[in-house]
Amino acid sequence: MNIISKKIMIIIFFIFGVLKAQNDGKVYDVIIIGAGISGLAAADHLIENGFDVLVLEARNRIGGRIWSYSWNDVIIEEGANWIHTATGNPLTKFAQDHGFTTYETPLNSMVAYINGKKIDNNQYDNLVKEFWAYIIANQHKGQDESLDKTVNNFMVENSFSLDELNILSYLVNSEISNEYGTDLKNLSRDYFDIGEEYDDGELVLHNGLQQIIDILKHNVKIKLNHIVTNIEYRVNENIVVYANNKRFYSKKVLVTVPLGVLKSGDIEFSPPLPESKQNAISDLGMGLLQKHWLLFDKVFWDEDVVWILSVNQQNWECMNYSSSGKPILLCFTMGKYAKSQEELADSIITSDVMSVLRNTYGQNIPDPLDVHYTKWASDKFSYGAYSYTAVGNTTETYLKISEPIHNLIYFAGEHTHENYPATIHGAYLSGLRAARLIRN
Ligand SMILES: Cc1cc2nc3c(=O)[nH]c(=O)nc-3n(C[C@H](O)[C@H](O)[C@H](O)COP(=O)(O)OP(=O)(O)OC[C@H]3O[C@@H](n4cnc5c(N)ncnc54)[C@H](O)[C@@H]3O)c2cc1C
Repeated sequence: MNIISKKIMIIIFFIFGVLKAQNDGKVYDVIIIGAGISGLAAADHLIENGFDVLVLEARNRIGGRIWSYSWNDVIIEEGANWIHTATGNPLTKFAQDHGFTTYETPLNSMVAYINGKKIDNNQYDNLVKEFWAYIIANQHKGQDESLDKTVNNFMVENSFSLDELNILSYLVNSEISNEYGTDLKNLSRDYFDIGEEYDDGELVLHNGLQQIIDILKHNVKIKLNHIVTNIEYRVNENIVVYANNKRFYSKKVLVTVPLGVLKSGDIEFSPPLPESKQNAISDLGMGLLQKHWLLFDKVFWDEDVVWILSVNQQNWECMNYSSSGKPILLCFTMGKYAKSQEELADSIITSDVMSVLRNTYGQNIPDPLDVHYTKWASDKFSYGAYSYTAVGNTTETYLKISEPIHNLIYFAGEHTHENYPATIHGAYLSGLRAARLIRN
């Protein structure tokens, strides 16, 4: 072999070596992007039906927005906490079938304060009933508009006292904004409560929702720390998925990354997603809910209730977590305020929530011994907590995001389920639905 042939051989071996390093040499039936509950439910279903599946997950853990772990020897849920509307919910059956220990959080176990004075529960109940009746009566009247406007009309049309107005504005935020993770002005009047619900019950898994994830991951081939950056798809060709500068090949791809990630453009689709899908992704709202755990040396709050509401401008709302065996309060905040807070030092956030607690329980309550705060807005594998129905969104917005492209690229995740968005059961069902579509 002359010197030129040797050089050519070396170049060929080098190129071959690089290509080999860039993929694992297989064409999978399906690559699933994201190991949250939707991705793992789909993977589990497809594997059971004989498909060769690979899951690529950006984080160093699975579960996505389900993330249970021990903090000060107490299981806390960084993301989802409850199986909402548990009676008839498929995840309740899942938990029962696997023998998980569960308990319920009563929704009506609450106390409300204004400036350290307890609000009469009847006064609260009546205001809330009046408020809901007004909202329902005013939905679907003319063109959709911001829910904020309807709420303001309700306030203006009734002659409430200043105290009543303050209580109402706080309670509305606590009932609606905390639920949907955004400020009222962003929510659609007509569709903010889109979808369906099962029957009563807010179920908690004693050892965390992660147990569901651990069951679903069984038998699934998952590559952690693999951040997908590009997806190239062409009809009649294998799809190429790029993660960590490596190429992975498959016949079909299921994208389950959160709405926030789709919005960010961190994953490039080639060719780009159809314009109508891009519009739906950009239009659907992505909300934010933050959780703040505070450990004290002893309980100083109302120990016999679950929810502790105290009228405050920032819309803090707390939950008595002492049934865990430790004097812990779990406080929530949402929307624009929660986002601005995420950029602040933990000590400033602590003083903020403590000022609300001191206004409620007196200046002498102690500082917390330990705190832990979530940061979902800056989490680059989520960019927020869960989707919400913004002004102008309808069922069609969710359906458009879930629509497959050329039977090659499929979509699942809480933001694709028109009946149960923003929930773990919606995400779970969306994964199963996408898996069935892929099978057919
Ligand atoms: C604070 C909070 C409280 C909540 N409370 C409740 C509750 O009580 N009850 C309830 O029903 N729901 C609740 N939810 C909503 C619920 O957690 C979600 O609806 C559900 O977990 C979403 O599952 P998913 O599979 O759609 O997405 P995810 O669980 O987010 O899974 C998507 C996965 O994709 C991965 N990913 C992202 N980008 C990439 C990339 N580029 N490459 C590869 N992988 C990537 C992510 O890391 C993640 O693991 C809450 C959510 C939050 C944040």
